[in-house]
Amino acid sequence: MEPLFYFFIFLFGAIIGSFLNVVLYRHNTTMTLMGRSFCFSCNKQLTWKELFPIASFIALRGKCRFCKSKIDNQYVMVEGVMGLLSVLLFWKLGGLATFSEKVFSVTGADWTWIFSSSLLFVVFSLLLVIVVYDLKHKIIPDNFSYAFASLSLLKMLFFPTTFPFTLTLWDLFAGLILASPFALLWVISQGRWMGLGDAKLALGIGWFLGLKAGFVSIVLAFWIGAAFGLSLIAINKLQKTSFFKHHVTMKSEIPFAPFLILGLLLVYFVPQIMTFFSTLFF
Ligand SMILES: [Zn+2]
Repeated sequence: MEPLFYFFIFLFGAIIGSFLNVVLYRHNTTMTLMGRSFCFSCNKQLTWKELFPIASFIALRGKCRFCKSKIDNQYVMVEGVMGLLSVLLFWKLGGLATFSEKVFSVTGADWTWIFSSSLLFVVFSLLLVIVVYDLKHKIIPDNFSYAFASLSLLKMLFFPTTFPFTLTLWDLFAGLILASPFALLWVISQGRWMGLGDAKLALGIGWFLGLKAGFVSIVLAFWIGAAFGLSLIAINKLQKTSFFKHHVTMKSEIPFAPFLILGLLLVYFVPQIMTFFSTLFF
């Protein structure tokens, strides 16, 4: 039963992923979230056969059925990642056993669990949208980061049991505390080192993980970001000295939101990280 359960969770996540693609494409355009999807090249409306997450993409070999123009890889990537994230989340929440106990209990469904789990699901969808949007446009729309911050604060206020530790008064200010260094860097560098978008994202990270775990996730983000940046520079140097002389220009600004969110996911899904850091710092 367990594999079947996760298969349906993956499928559900992928369907939400295809909705997130619509949000990503139509944000900041005049298009609403309603109406059928269509091919961006030939404007042909997609039929229900082409709207299956992942399967349609594979069946069509990544091309539009009418005009054969290439379908953006983003579609299948977002669907797949959202499917995987959903599987991870439900595994973290206790898998099929917990799910059936909380939802189909004879004594009635556990609505606190259902609401808090749905909230987590919405937050993860939002985080995926933020990562993809930042990668594409190098900006995080304010309404996405404020929605993340508000939902995280709601989670802290109404579902304190979603934290693996007892909350303190400091955790209530975690968002503001963790956002302030980013805001300071933004002021000092006049926006050159750090966008204000990262400060707004740190608000949500603080409230989602609490002060200590939020701090650790941001430290991790800087480490992974630095390692990534250094390897890009190394690859760039190697290519310059190689026989092939690939002309690769270093992107001066690497979007930081993906690293921040990767840090959050690592701390959330791998509790050993906090155990390790606790012995070091706290
Ligand atoms: Zn087309």
